Amino acid sequence: MSFLLSLSCGIIPFANHDHAKRVLFQFQKHYQQAIGYSTTNPSIRVDTLTHNLFYPQKPLFKTVLSDSLGTPKHSIGQTSHAKHEYYNGQCAIVAVNVHLGYNQEDSLVMNRASLERGMFRSEHVRSYKAEVFNKESFGKKDKAEDNTVFGKIQSKIGHVDKLDEDGFPYVGASLQSGDIVIGKHAESGSDYSMKLKNGEKGSVQIVLSANDGGKNFATVSLRQVRSPSLGDKFSSMHGQKGVLGFLESQENFPFTIQGIVPDVVINPHAFPSRQTPGQLLEAALGKGIALGGSLKYATPFSTPSVEDITNQLHRCGFSRWGNERVYNGRTGEMVESLVFMGPTFYQKLVHMSEDKVKFRNIGPVHPLTRQPVADRKRFDGVKVGEMERDCIIAHGPTANLYERLYTLCDASHMHVCRKCNNMASVIQRSVPRGPKIRGPYCRFCESVEDVVKVNVPYGAKLICQELFSMGIAIEFESELC
Ligand SMILES: [Zn+2]
Repeated sequence: MSFLLSLSCGIIPFANHDHAKRVLFQFQKHYQQAIGYSTTNPSIRVDTLTHNLFYPQKPLFKTVLSDSLGTPKHSIGQTSHAKHEYYNGQCAIVAVNVHLGYNQEDSLVMNRASLERGMFRSEHVRSYKAEVFNKESFGKKDKAEDNTVFGKIQSKIGHVDKLDEDGFPYVGASLQSGDIVIGKHAESGSDYSMKLKNGEKGSVQIVLSANDGGKNFATVSLRQVRSPSLGDKFSSMHGQKGVLGFLESQENFPFTIQGIVPDVVINPHAFPSRQTPGQLLEAALGKGIALGGSLKYATPFSTPSVEDITNQLHRCGFSRWGNERVYNGRTGEMVESLVFMGPTFYQKLVHMSEDKVKFRNIGPVHPLTRQPVADRKRFDGVKVGEMERDCIIAHGPTANLYERLYTLCDASHMHVCRKCNNMASVIQRSVPRGPKIRGPYCRFCESVEDVVKVNVPYGAKLICQELFSMGIAIEFESELC
């Protein structure tokens, strides 16, 4: 019956015990986003962006479908070799408990010592590509100035101190945002270097190549090792995603009678409304297997009975229901309630806080609207939208609102004629018997009398000018103050 599910659904343990929506979450989103080990030759590949998990682990459960994937018996195509199996997660010891309030609302607490031992550590490689013409094909080009070459020149757009004379950073150099990643310039001396954007960094690896058309390619890969940090996203196989909320020291976790400490603590409120008892079954089954019980299949629709799982645990000398008596790590006292704990297959997803943080005081603005540009790599601003505006109004700090909406981002001024109430533009005009002067001037009244300067947001001024260009004039009533 499990074959009525798709491939990716069929390897979810106890999928028939989960709410359909959660199973869909898992196989549509989390499988795609989980960091695994996707290739056997990562050191010579030059993908634009890849993620690799350092220590992928085999899940403790199997399903009939996962069994048939890539085994010699069921090989894909004509190959006689067994396909290597790489998994996209690790078996973490997961406790279902509250932890000092740091795992509220789908956040989870992780064990810092486990992370220091390498749990969920991953490598991220981003490649930058540049091309130039071969030296040999120079003669074919008519203009020498068009030819660009790799090489180090003093650049105005970024730092070049990590570049060798050939224009590439030395292998192993640690590049930061603002550094030049590939030095490239024309014969005339103009600079075509490639600069790292804000937030990009890593250690260097270089691949040089050429094609038949006479082009030289250079690819510089930046490699970065990341350990989980606050805000990184994780998910179990049952659509239970969450972000890391706190890194707790190992000694502060509750420990069992054998000294087992959880790697991950998730909140019990994640279960009743989501209806994913499959995860609890997975943890209980995995615990039995890890404790030396027999390997059992978790195939959807043909799972071992709850009695099988509980008996397996009981035979190993554990609570039938996967609960554990624990001791408070801070006080050493026995905790009154039992805590459900067991190995659960967890995935690290690609959404990491390091790729998403943004902050800004000043930075580039759009030339037309003078608003901050919307690009995190270009110091994107934090938007104060209409809902934020409503909040500030509700709390009453109007001076703060004025500063946020006007003074800090949009302050501008324009000229208005008080006689005809029209906008007066700044123009250059000639006066009789004198030099040309530049200043505000009302073209309707043909005078400069009664022209006053008013402070307006630049956005308001811009839309007035745009309307004016469509033949719509807006009148301004102004008061002297
Ligand atoms: Zn006028």
